[in-house]
Amino acid sequence: MPELAEVEYFRKKWNVGLAHKIVSIHLQPKKRVFRQTSTTLLTRKIRGRSFHSSHAHGKQMLFRFGSDAWLGIHLGMTGRLLAASSLHRPSSSDHLILRTASHSLIFRDPRLFGRVRFAVSPRPPSWWSNLPPPIHSPKFTVPYLRKICTRRARSPLKALLLMQQFFPGIGNWMADEILWQTQLCPRTLSGVLSSASIAQLHQRLRQICRTSLRLIGHDYSDPPKTWLYRHRWRSGGYCPRCQRRLSRAPIGGRTTCWCPTCQPSTPLPLASPDC
Ligand SMILES: [Zn+2]
Repeated sequence: MPELAEVEYFRKKWNVGLAHKIVSIHLQPKKRVFRQTSTTLLTRKIRGRSFHSSHAHGKQMLFRFGSDAWLGIHLGMTGRLLAASSLHRPSSSDHLILRTASHSLIFRDPRLFGRVRFAVSPRPPSWWSNLPPPIHSPKFTVPYLRKICTRRARSPLKALLLMQQFFPGIGNWMADEILWQTQLCPRTLSGVLSSASIAQLHQRLRQICRTSLRLIGHDYSDPPKTWLYRHRWRSGGYCPRCQRRLSRAPIGGRTTCWCPTCQPSTPLPLASPDC
C-alpha cells in the first residue's frame, strides 16, 4: 500500500501536465473509486480548465484546476498515478484520465480501494484542510506527540503509528522502521513511554519521513542499507543491527516485523542508528 513517500512519488507523475489545459476527460463513473462523487460535475468543471497545482499530505493528494476546482485522490492499496502520451488507450483499471494536448494523466487502480473526490469552492475543501499536521511540519512537536501517546495510552505502539488521524502517511513498513530505529517493541503500550523515548520517537519519525521523501519520493530509490526496510520483506531475514533473526506477527491488524533482541518488551537504552 502506498505510504507517504510513495504517494509523493506518484503525485509528481502528473506534474508534466501543470499549466496545461485539460482538453478531454475519460472516466468510468460506475466504478467504486467515485463513490459519493459527482462525475458529471467533475467533468464539467475540469474540462477546459488549466491544471494549476498539486499537493500531497500523508496518503492524500489534491490537484487544483482553474481557481476553484479541487480533485482529491487516495491511492488505496493498489492505486497509482501515471503519465503517458495523449494517445494512451485506457486499460480496464484506468478509472480516470485527464488529457492535455500532449499527455494523458492516469489514475489506475486494479483493486478499486482508492478514492476520487471532487469539490468546487474558492478555498480547499474541508476533507483536505481538516487533515492533521504533517509529521515533518513545525506543528508536529514533542508535546503534540506526548498528547497523542497519552490519549491512546492503551494502544500498542504499532497500532498507534498506523492511525492516520495522528500520523498521516505512515503505513506498515514505515511504522516497523520507526519502531526498529527507536528500539521500541511494537507491542509496547503508548502510555508507558518515558519522556526520553517520546523525544527519540519524535526525532526518528521526522527523520524517517524526511529521508523517505528525499529518496523514494524523488525517484523511488531504496532507503539506506542500514534500515530494516531492506530486510523486512521476505520471510526469514536478519536484523541489520545485531544479525539475529527477525520476528513476524500480526499487531494492530498488520503483519509486523521486528527484532526481538533490539526491540525487547523492556526497552533498551536508546541508540542512534545511522540513516
Ligand atoms: Zn537486532
